[in-house]
Amino acid sequence: MSALVLDGKTLAAQTEADLLARVEQLKVRSGGKTPILATILVGDDPASATYVRMKGNACRRVGMESLAVELPTSTTTETLLAKIQELNANPDVHGILLQHPVPEQIDERACFDAIALEKDVDGVTCLGFGRMAMGEDAYGCATPQGIMRILEHYGIDIEGKHAVVVGRSPILGKPMAMMLLQKNATVTICHSRTRDLPGLVAQADILVGAVGRPEFIKAEWVKPGAVVVDAGYHPGGVGDIELEPLAEKASAYTPVPGGVGPMTINTLILQSVMSGEKSLG
Ligand code: NAP
Repeated sequence: MSALVLDGKTLAAQTEADLLARVEQLKVRSGGKTPILATILVGDDPASATYVRMKGNACRRVGMESLAVELPTSTTTETLLAKIQELNANPDVHGILLQHPVPEQIDERACFDAIALEKDVDGVTCLGFGRMAMGEDAYGCATPQGIMRILEHYGIDIEGKHAVVVGRSPILGKPMAMMLLQKNATVTICHSRTRDLPGLVAQADILVGAVGRPEFIKAEWVKPGAVVVDAGYHPGGVGDIELEPLAEKASAYTPVPGGVGPMTINTLILQSVMSGEKSLG
């Protein structure tokens, strides 16, 4: 039987239509104000500049505004921290996005953690992570939160399932594992020092690939009927999992492209609107 395609592209487009209406209603209620996402780009990495531009465009598509802050490559930790504090104190700013990675002289963790919890719409602070892991209110880290939204949208059963997450990065694997645990999955986290990765992947009812290597996880490792989520995206349009043979073997899977990818920016924008709604009424 063909696997269900977990179509993030369509879900993101539907969410944008919904957000456009929510921003319009918020404008009426608040005397013309819209949520504002501040984006901070440090340096001139072209890929980062493209991501920031895409985020600004997504804001405009839902009727929100964005405030683009651009700082030179030579920026110090102190200068960046001061800018973040300024944005924290600005009542017109409802969300702050610091584009990763920042130049190496900057203490990125300190700068992420300086973002006020209520403006951490990208879910990057330690405080937000800790609260999320404890089941308290916090905006989820955008990519794993986007994955949870896809699973929820398609009614994928999580409770009691064995979820295997391959990767433990702060922005993906770790928060992903905590989110699945919150939904009562039994979670195994794999990383570069894990022994017998194929054996662990074979136990997964829900498999999340977040390794950063093209088609590193092989289709033959995957249990028939598993739900397969591929967070990777590499040149040539492949992810971290060998997906093609899984279209018949898995019960559901996220395609690459068009699965997880579109949900990341979409979740950032959704959480910015939520923050705007909280502060503007
Ligand atoms: P990352 O920071 O490079 O982390 C990769 C993780 O994979 C690490 O935890 C690493 O383990 C683990 N790993 C490396 N080699 C391994 C091996 N041989 N066996 C098992 N685990 C291994 O990457 P990331 O930022 O989490 O991104 C992961 C993937 O998601 C990438 O393909 C990236 O492009 C994609 N991504 C997509 C979006 C999106 O918007 N769709 C956003 C972010 C990332 P150690 O911790 O032991 O080193």
